[in-house]
Amino acid sequence: MLDEFVEEQKIVCTILKNAVSKNKYSHAYLFETNGYRNANQIALAFAKYLLCPNHYANSSKCVNCTQCNLIDQNTFSEIQIIEPDGMWIKKEQLDQLQKEFIKTAVQSQFRVYIIHNAEKMNAHAANSILKFLEEPAPNIIAILVTDNMYQLLDTIVSRCQIISFAKNDESNHSMIEKIMDFIYLPDAMDKPQVEEYIEIVTHFIEYLESKGKDTLLNIQSLWHSVINDRDKTLMSFEMMLLFYKDILNVKFNRPIEFYDDYEKKIKEIALKNKVQNLTQKLIIINQLKEKIKYNVNLNLLIDELILEMGSV
Ligand SMILES: [Zn+2]
Repeated sequence: MLDEFVEEQKIVCTILKNAVSKNKYSHAYLFETNGYRNANQIALAFAKYLLCPNHYANSSKCVNCTQCNLIDQNTFSEIQIIEPDGMWIKKEQLDQLQKEFIKTAVQSQFRVYIIHNAEKMNAHAANSILKFLEEPAPNIIAILVTDNMYQLLDTIVSRCQIISFAKNDESNHSMIEKIMDFIYLPDAMDKPQVEEYIEIVTHFIEYLESKGKDTLLNIQSLWHSVINDRDKTLMSFEMMLLFYKDILNVKFNRPIEFYDDYEKKIKEIALKNKVQNLTQKLIIINQLKEKIKYNVNLNLLIDELILEMGSV
């Protein structure tokens, strides 16, 4: 099972297998998915690997093993999976789990519970699980899976071993393709070029966010030397709009829609801006974008952009 994922998540699989082979597993794992879509399956594969007395990692059927058979049939009481009930994971779900785990006869060496979308635990649920994590029973292992670690209580995070999943190349390609689907593209602009412009535009935003109006001093190298005609300007403005939209997404605890690979930058800028500032900036970019179509002087347009964004 676990071996199916080795190609996509080599480091994660190695860490998890070593933990078992060296008998140095943690009582609580926090799987930070980084957008990787099979993290839940890896959590289950790891649980299975732990519980199978043969520690079968490949996908062939594990023979003569009750545990693996029961897990495959979904009737194995030593693994419990908790999922959001509607919008949230509720305290009752976790209380139920804890009751069950205390009374269940042990069918194997470990008992494992997996919490999908752990960031969806409401405050009561989070406190309930925290107590469980604070007093770990020797043979109970927790796996919390989350797309957004920053929404979990620090006290929970600090009690877990964090397993951070790699973003695969596929997601990188899809990021650029996704952005290309949503912006104006000048003729003959190919994917590698778009990728370069994304770099330039995001760097410009980062600079503008930290230096404000002083960005004007370096505008030649930051912008005009590369974004030097009307077509490229329009494309770059549309890239900016999507970037600020993602900053706003983070602010509202929504997933990043476009710039998956820029999560760190986006979160940093989100921290520095209030929602109303971000909305204001989106309005400014949008209004100036409209002017690109007319015969405005592009140098002045960018100056205006910097001055207005710098005053928000
Ligand atoms: Zn087995």
